[in-house]
Amino acid sequence: MRHIVNPDIYDVVIVGSGAGGGMAAYVLAQAGAKVAMLEAGPMWDAAADGDMFTWNYTSRARGASSKEKPFGEFDGCIGGWEIEGEPYTRAEGTEWDWFRARMLGGRTNHWGRISLRFGPDDFRGYSLDGLGDDWPIGYEDLAPWYDKLDRLVGIFGNRDGFYNEPDGDFLPPPAPRLHELLVMQGAARLGIPVLANRLSILTKARNGRVACHFCGQCGRGCATGSNFSSPTALLPPALDTGRLTIVDQAMAREILTDQEGLATGVSYVNRNDMQEYAVRGRVVVLAASACETARLLLNSTSSRHPAGLANASGVVGRYLMDSTGASVAGIFPQLVGRAAYNEDGVGGAHIYIPWFGQDARRDFARGYHLEVWGGRDQPSYGFMGGIHTINNLFEDRPRGGGGYGMQLKQDYRDLYGSVVGFSARGEMIARYDNYCEIDPDATDQYGIPVLRFHVRWSDEEYRQIKHAQEASRQLVEAMGGEVLTPMPSEEEGYGILAPGRIIHEVGTARMGNDPARAPLNAWCQAHDARNVFVTDGAPFVSQAHKNATWTILALAWRTADRIVELRNAGAL
Ligand SMILES: Cc1cc2nc3c(=O)[nH]c(=O)nc-3n(C[C@H](O)[C@H](O)[C@H](O)COP(=O)(O)OP(=O)(O)OC[C@H]3O[C@@H](n4cnc5c(N)ncnc54)[C@H](O)[C@@H]3O)c2cc1C
Ligand code: SF4
Repeated sequence: MRHIVNPDIYDVVIVGSGAGGGMAAYVLAQAGAKVAMLEAGPMWDAAADGDMFTWNYTSRARGASSKEKPFGEFDGCIGGWEIEGEPYTRAEGTEWDWFRARMLGGRTNHWGRISLRFGPDDFRGYSLDGLGDDWPIGYEDLAPWYDKLDRLVGIFGNRDGFYNEPDGDFLPPPAPRLHELLVMQGAARLGIPVLANRLSILTKARNGRVACHFCGQCGRGCATGSNFSSPTALLPPALDTGRLTIVDQAMAREILTDQEGLATGVSYVNRNDMQEYAVRGRVVVLAASACETARLLLNSTSSRHPAGLANASGVVGRYLMDSTGASVAGIFPQLVGRAAYNEDGVGGAHIYIPWFGQDARRDFARGYHLEVWGGRDQPSYGFMGGIHTINNLFEDRPRGGGGYGMQLKQDYRDLYGSVVGFSARGEMIARYDNYCEIDPDATDQYGIPVLRFHVRWSDEEYRQIKHAQEASRQLVEAMGGEVLTPMPSEEEGYGILAPGRIIHEVGTARMGNDPARAPLNAWCQAHDARNVFVTDGAPFVSQAHKNATWTILALAWRTADRIVELRNAGAL
């Protein structure tokens, strides 16, 4: 294919500007490398483009979600489950849903900031229960980068010394809110541990960024830069070096290679003029998100790499994982009709329920944690799903507040904030049979072949979610509440959400010491193209029940340090 070739040759070309791309750019530009970053979406600045200070009532849609804005009208993300002109397909029986961001900073603009380290057990699952594989590295190999990350980005939490939940260099956590105190009470009755949450939100100023003022709108992107996103914490210092060039609206098509099979750059479609371009580089770093990185590798075929770049093992796209997920909510009479007072906080829970079943007899592998929600933050259209349905749960409340009038207002005043819920997030086992591949029959609007997904939950995940449902229901009762929905049956999968729905995609180009079984080595470097590296979630060997991003960031930093080391040694 003919390209308009940029005359510059960069030391490194990075694809993607989210967690993994932002971290790679931060480290490499500061180390002296001349870096080009390709980003499929437009530039985006939370302070100028975000809606952190917008009241829902100022909009005709009252902040409601839509197909274009699945997390609410003012959510800080351009993208979603479906993107116009960028389809993906599913094999029969597959339910996989794929969330993609298309903007500077990717999903880091609106993610939940739950920033959990993997623990020692999370790197050696196979050794513990014979499922999946062990990582080629252990916790101690990554710990120095988690430490550096805590200090650079800032994260709050408590040093709890809890099993397999390594402590970090924490800022003080915010105090629990009323509904969270209720959770702590109920959990104590059942012997379930509750820790202070670990979120990458500043409770004290750090590295030129100011502390959070508790507006609770983190998902909209933080105009004061008090929570972590790539464009607030990583890209500005990288740009300050004068060595980072960001090319926005650049949809990468494939990695270009030479006769030896080494990368020479990346070709892309400029979304503004739809022309084909190429940018050349001595090293290529892929950070387009795990599945998109697999797509790029698989689309980069050549005589040296007939099955796709870094795919001599044939496992690019394989071992795709997401977290398991299910939710349970309860209504709490003791929270009804309480006085209204300011209970603002960060845009996320102040507490966290870690996996607590290590020692119990159970019929599934690995574990899950529970994320807590509730309280009285700014409501948007459709909140509480029809207030009269909640009112009807109470025999002694007056009826008639279904649609309008004084009773409706009174119901909102009394009942809003009386529902508290738990969302389980659990570990999915890495399996060869769960994968994405190039669909031979479909391309996107740029003519780039798209992904076809083959993903199914196994009994391990179903049994795990059954356990999470039961535990969450016991918790609601121990708190003195009433569960709002019946226990889902086995036929309903115990309420497990479709794979992909938790948006923790990892594992499509895993690390491993054996080139026959893994595309990347223990430094996230391609076994069969030494100047290709991956810094998103693709290198994960297992998923842990922990949200992936803190580990993506730590691994990306470690990988970028390795690139600097190899460049300095003349090995790239
Ligand atoms: C609502 C929500 C809540 C979340 N909450 C949490 C949480 O609390 N904790 C947690 O750990 N994780 C959470 N996540 C997941 C988290 O956002 C991701 O793990 C993280 O952003 C992944 O980083 P990444 O660099 O791999 O991808 P991204 O951040 O998505 O960045 C990828 C970038 O690559 C660009 N790109 C893609 N394809 C191309 C291409 N072909 N050419 C050029 N550019 C391309 C995209 O436009 C994007 O900017 C959440 C996600 C969502 C959506
Ligand atoms: S809660 Fe804090 S970190 Fe979140 S958007 Fe508001 S000020 Fe920013």
